This record gives sequence, structure tokens and C-alpha cells, in this order.
Amino acid sequence: MPQTEPVGPTEPTRARHALLAVHAHPDDESLWTGGLLARAADAGRPTAVVTCTDGELAGGGSFAAPGTRTKEWTEALEVLGVTSSAMLPYRDSGRRGQGPGSLCAAPFDDVVADLVERIRALRPTAVVTYDAAGVSGHLDHIRVHRATLAAVEAAAVPFLLPSHGPAWAVESVWLVTAPSSLVGHAAAIGLAPADVPSTPDERIAVPLDVRPWLAIKWAALRCHASEFDRGASVSAFADPALRQLGLGTEYFLHRPGPGAPTGAGVPSL
Ligand SMILES: [Zn+2]
Repeated sequence: MPQTEPVGPTEPTRARHALLAVHAHPDDESLWTGGLLARAADAGRPTAVVTCTDGELAGGGSFAAPGTRTKEWTEALEVLGVTSSAMLPYRDSGRRGQGPGSLCAAPFDDVVADLVERIRALRPTAVVTYDAAGVSGHLDHIRVHRATLAAVEAAAVPFLLPSHGPAWAVESVWLVTAPSSLVGHAAAIGLAPADVPSTPDERIAVPLDVRPWLAIKWAALRCHASEFDRGASVSAFADPALRQLGLGTEYFLHRPGPGAPTGAGVPSL
């Protein structure tokens, strides 16, 4: 199992504009935020990814050899130009179960504490994670959403977890979501529209056009070869038209963080 590794950067001026994406499994960083991360790297902005599980199912049943998904994740992060990364020591809870060592079976406060430590080490301006439905409804995604929001709040409070680094107040939290207008296309990637959570288009704060970075995003996604080998939904994006439609824009809700300037509106992402 991958070990938790120290994350950087810790130099405050460089980290001031850092963007931290918190995800559940290898491939999520590319699928949901690959365009955002590639765009930020292009702009010289430090980026970090914390992935909470190694993507291997707790209790067995994994579809790739041990370590495969971690290796693919490392390659994808390199393609996306991610500055620093960490994988937390939990396992994939799967869509139905939890299993020993899984993210959903872990005490919630333990996951929050792990994320507080990362936030305080990285000192990001913005944190990105999933919406309340986990974008896709996956139990691990929902868990990551809740733990990340709790960690962003706790990280700003010096009284809490003082051994986990000096307090840091994140300015913005961005939640990846899917717009209702795209749900009708879910069948094209093998999903039943009724099973796909979504957000009314008018509620979305930022639809980010990432088509200039779509080739990089796709190259990062392709690093996750074991997902394609098992015929996961992402395989459908091999079709260029579907790729433009499904991956060319990333959609975000905005929530002010504890460090948001008073009276500020929605900042740029
Ligand atoms: Zn996932």
C-alpha cells in the first residue's frame, strides 16, 4: 500500500496562489479536473493533488495488479504538470460496500485530520473537490466532499489539531459538478440519466472551457490504462466528438472559504 508522503511546497509566497485538488481515486484528477490542473500549470501556478485511496478495492476484487493504479496516477500527474502530490493510505470503498481499510470505513475525523495536515503544509488559495453528490454518486467521492469541507474549516482554526501545522485559511472552495443540460448525454457513456446527479445550469458558478488543454487532459486520462482495459465509462471518450462534449468544459460550484475577503464575489478560478 502506498505510504503517505510529505507534500510541498512550503515556501509561502510561492504557495500563495496554489491550487489543491482533493480526489478519491486515481483517474479522478484527470477526468474531473485535468483541464483545470493543466491550465494552472501553464500559468505557472503551483498545483497539488491529494488522492485519498489507491483505487484498489478493499476486500479484493480489484481489476488491476497491485500498484498498477498508483503507477498510472503518478504518470498522469506528470502529464498534468502537478507540482506536488500525496496518496492517503485508504482503500477504495467500491460502489456498494466498504471493506476493511476503506475510506468509508475509516473514522471520519481521521480523514479530516489527514486533509488538515495537507492543507496546512500546502497553504493553497483554492481547494477543489466534488459536489455533495460526489459528481458521480460514488460513496468515496461523497466522503471526500464532506471530509474536504470539514478540513478546510478546521485548518483555519489554530485551536484544532495544533500538531498538524500552523493554521491556514483557504480563500475559495470549488466543487466539481455536472450540469443538468449534459445529463441527456449520459447514455453515450453507458450511464442511465436517472442515475446521474446533476446541478441546474443556472447554479453553476464557473463553466471552465478547457478545450485548449483537452489534449493534455486526454493524455493524462489515457495514463490510466487499466480503466480503459476494463471498459470503464471513460473509454467512451475515445470518440473525439464525445470527448469535446464531455471533457471540454469543467463545471464548478463556488463556496467561500474561511479566508475569503469580506464582501468578495465569486473570484476567478
Ligand atoms: Zn473516483
